[in-house]
Amino acid sequence: MNLNLGNQDKEWTRWAIGVLQGDANRSADTHLIPLDFNGLPGISIYLKDESTHPTGSLKHRLARSLFLYGICNGWIKKGTLLVEASSGSTAVSEAYFAKLLNLPFTAVMQRSTSCQKIDAINRLGGTCHFVDNPGAIYTVAEQLARETGGHYLDQFTNAERATDWRGNNNIAESIFSQMAMEKDPEPAWVVMSAGTGGTSATIGRYIKYKHLNTRLCVVDVEHSAFYESYDTGDKASTCSTPSRIEGIGRPRVEPSFIPDVIDHMIKIPDAASLAAMHVLSERLSRRVGGSTGTNFFGVCCIAEQMRSQKQTGSIVSVICDSGDRYASTYYDADWLKEANIDIKPYEKYLNLFLDGKSSDVSLISLCKNICGSSVVAHC
Ligand SMILES: *Cc1c(COP(=O)(O)O)cnc(C)c1O
Repeated sequence: MNLNLGNQDKEWTRWAIGVLQGDANRSADTHLIPLDFNGLPGISIYLKDESTHPTGSLKHRLARSLFLYGICNGWIKKGTLLVEASSGSTAVSEAYFAKLLNLPFTAVMQRSTSCQKIDAINRLGGTCHFVDNPGAIYTVAEQLARETGGHYLDQFTNAERATDWRGNNNIAESIFSQMAMEKDPEPAWVVMSAGTGGTSATIGRYIKYKHLNTRLCVVDVEHSAFYESYDTGDKASTCSTPSRIEGIGRPRVEPSFIPDVIDHMIKIPDAASLAAMHVLSERLSRRVGGSTGTNFFGVCCIAEQMRSQKQTGSIVSVICDSGDRYASTYYDADWLKEANIDIKPYEKYLNLFLDGKSSDVSLISLCKNICGSSVVAHC
């Protein structure tokens, strides 16, 4: 029996974990940005700015966790080909960590993924494998890993379990500790959209674990299975049309989506998400991504509800990524026109709402008026 067998693996594992810890050690925590609006007296809004990670989105946290999870489980070794199913942001962050560890990386993505993300993956040495049907990315990625002896990182299953939800400076612990010195340190609400569902799972679990009175609202988009599943309890809900808001909205209910830690869900029309993205970008003097628009519109719906019930307090949400990635899509008037997305009515009322100049139209009823019942409709 050769007891030295596996020593090389151990050595690589030790080195790899050191490299990942080094990356964390070089990184600073992300900012929590306070926002005040004349139309919302007594209600303070905070946005956790996850766009400032080295790879530009909240997926930097997830990618680091998935790599550590895979390495510590013995699934990722020297030379292992890593494969992921991704709508883009996760693949960018994973390509970054794969490069740090000299591991080959392939992302299986739907063809409509933004060019900026594809370029970023390629620049980091990763390759992209495109599929036309968004529902096919999972089986294609799994098969690719199986046939090559590689490892399928599987963010949609593992996001929820690879993240240390009790602490270790996860996004929830970071948010709540950064709130400590604020006027209303315990938020009335946290609002978050769902892609893997991992971030909302971490926040929801942390709220329970720390006995907080904070409630969690998850916002979903038009072409996505999450809202219907939450509403009906059917985990088998699906949606055959791909989501138009990159990073969020899924064709199936992902295993990392944990409905029992969520207090409330709102389904938001895509035009409202993108209007909120534009309005917020103007007020921040910098561009945010589409899912941040979904988050911000959800924050406004909650704030409107609080205001009408004469409640005060704080609401926290997330800037998931920067708008730079969407210059030729969501920020392009021709693209919006072609996609048949009219943001103008939402933009107008959001600005009136935030400035306290309108009380006759509610945001929720505005969604219903414009989209029929789509604000609460299923997929
Ligand atoms: C992944 C992602 C989200 C959603 O986060 P999850 O933790 O996966 O639910 C939101 N916005 C962007 C840009 C994302 O990439």
